[in-house]
Amino acid sequence: MHKNFKNIDKVVFGRGSFSMMESILAEKRNENDGFFLFVVDNYFKGKELESRLPAMPQDVVKFIDVDPHEPTTEQIDELRDEVLANKGLPAGVIGIGGGSIMDIAKAVSLMFTNEGSSTLYQGLNLIKKPGIYHLGVPTISGTGAEVSMTAVLTGPVKKLGLKCDWTVFNQVILDPELIASVPVDKWLYTGMDTYIHCIESENGILNNAYSHAYAEQSLKLCREIYLGPGAGQTAENDDKLMVASMMGGLSLTYSEVGVCHALSYGLSKIFGEKHCYANCLAFQHLEDYYGEGVAELKQMLAQHNVNLPQGLSKGWTEQEITAMAEVAYNLPHMWNHAIGTNWKEKVTLDTIKDLYKRM
Ligand code: NAD
Ligand code: ZN
Repeated sequence: MHKNFKNIDKVVFGRGSFSMMESILAEKRNENDGFFLFVVDNYFKGKELESRLPAMPQDVVKFIDVDPHEPTTEQIDELRDEVLANKGLPAGVIGIGGGSIMDIAKAVSLMFTNEGSSTLYQGLNLIKKPGIYHLGVPTISGTGAEVSMTAVLTGPVKKLGLKCDWTVFNQVILDPELIASVPVDKWLYTGMDTYIHCIESENGILNNAYSHAYAEQSLKLCREIYLGPGAGQTAENDDKLMVASMMGGLSLTYSEVGVCHALSYGLSKIFGEKHCYANCLAFQHLEDYYGEGVAELKQMLAQHNVNLPQGLSKGWTEQEITAMAEVAYNLPHMWNHAIGTNWKEKVTLDTIKDLYKRM
């Protein structure tokens, strides 16, 4: 079966393009109960960006702290219920922030029109009705959440996305000026998510000419941004990173992620580690699967003096390691892509536990 992917309806890219939001929203303003819901990373509270929000008095602006926890189903349900009870149905949702905020915006836009708890819809194509208009503005680049068809939520039972065509943003504004303030460690970890998306997309049975073209270009950009004399947080590199992130996301959409993302899900589920950081923790030990990629990632970390912790597994119990391995093992689509259809002959729970023990 070939993937039939729903892309973003509209994208604007360029320095200062954030200012176009007001005119973009104007034509939607009168829909539903005539107000917008803005969800904005709390980092921007009191910063210049707050004064540039094109919010009208009737709009609802929520600043949300995304640290330390990733978005939860409970958080989405509460936000939806509160807005519906106090104001009604918004004309649209605008998410301004990283993957966490963009996923909140995507998820809540769906939950405004789908009854009950978001836990009912964690999975593929479980959403029953299209959500309301939603617009995403990344302020940190790498996860590809701006382009993906999933909104990852942690629920009481599973960490799984609301995944369907309607999850994809109607509009994305890519303004590289917004990522200039990202601290170097987060710039690196989040960017490495893109790098790892591409390496994993390329190395597996689902790689194809379409996913390859995006990965090749995204990897080229990652190398320019993170390696060699031109590397660093410059304006030119921020332009490139925004595009690399989107292309990395498109590459994995047409292919698949692999061993690192499987292990990363275990780290997030059992220890609450954030996605991009968890990927870095895992990827550095995956020489057996992605030799050249691992060596290059280490070079990038070293060039920017970012050190990943070592010996973490010494502090983990056998039970915790088993629990992580079970989470990772239960992502068969990733192992199938990375190892092949006969992956179960090559990868057992013990193989995965050994990978965690290297960390
Ligand atoms: P994030 O949204 O969790 O933010 C990371 C940190 O960067 C936060 O402290 C935030 O306040 C800060 N930050 C954001 N913009 C900033 C700026 N301009 N200046 C200074 N600080 C800034 O980051 P993320 O890594 O982009 O997202 C991680 C989340 O994305 C996880 O919840 C993960 O599950 C999700 N994710 C989603 C997808 C998808 O396809 N939907 C893919 C991968 C990851
Ligand atoms: Zn990822």
